[in-house]
Amino acid sequence: MRLSANFKLNEFYNPIDHGTTWRSRTWPQRVITVRPNPAPDLVTILQLIRDTLNRPIRITSGIRSEARNRAVGGSNSSGHMSGSSADIQVISMRGMRDISPREVGAVIRDLFNRGLLQNLAFSYIGGSFVHIGVDSEVPRNGIWGAGY
Ligand SMILES: [Zn+2]
Repeated sequence: MRLSANFKLNEFYNPIDHGTTWRSRTWPQRVITVRPNPAPDLVTILQLIRDTLNRPIRITSGIRSEARNRAVGGSNSSGHMSGSSADIQVISMRGMRDISPREVGAVIRDLFNRGLLQNLAFSYIGGSFVHIGVDSEVPRNGIWGAGY
């Protein structure tokens, strides 16, 4: 199922994730037993980043069950469990130079500063990915985390 010009629903799920509980998107999070879809705002933001970079984006970690989130060391209130967060990487392409997470982060920050990512709630730059979250209910100290 296509969610936007370049993202399909199944890209947000890990096929080896056989967990049975997730979290609600409302805050405080509740345990739910129906796997959430990606938040529409998240898909919109990912598509805008993709269009700006004009390069395919791989979702390295999308929606996680509680069990999967624990297995990868995700935070106890991770937006990955509710469909409001995704980790992304720009896909390497033959003949084109790689775009590092730091460069992707700079593009995200620029889009935000231009008022184009109003629903972005939290982002940080990891070693090989950039985290994008729209889980605005989670108390945070600003939207820019590690790596920025
Ligand atoms: Zn993440």
